[in-house]
Amino acid sequence: MIKINDKYCKGCEICVDYCPMNVFERSLEPSERGYFVPKVKHPERCTALRAEKIVKREVCRLCEKLCPDQAIKIEEDC
Ligand code: SF4
Ligand code: SF4
Repeated sequence: MIKINDKYCKGCEICVDYCPMNVFERSLEPSERGYFVPKVKHPERCTALRAEKIVKREVCRLCEKLCPDQAIKIEEDC
């Protein structure tokens, strides 16, 4: 599962722009805090989630690494 924590996200859209599989989609509505938190539109495309468990930690995870607010978590067992 890919989770975006809307308590941390400031809507910079780096994840939208840099995910090589276009997993994220821009939001058109601001959150309660006034930020445009992207939506996880196509989780099935994520290479980290599709990888075999043994290599999962090594695959992609660009969104987690690039998010300046540590708002994205890829959870292993979903
Ligand atoms: S990179 Fe992080 S802070 Fe920026 S929009 Fe994505 S989840 Fe939010
Ligand atoms: S791990 Fe990679 S493919 Fe998966 S959502 Fe993040 S950037 Fe996209």
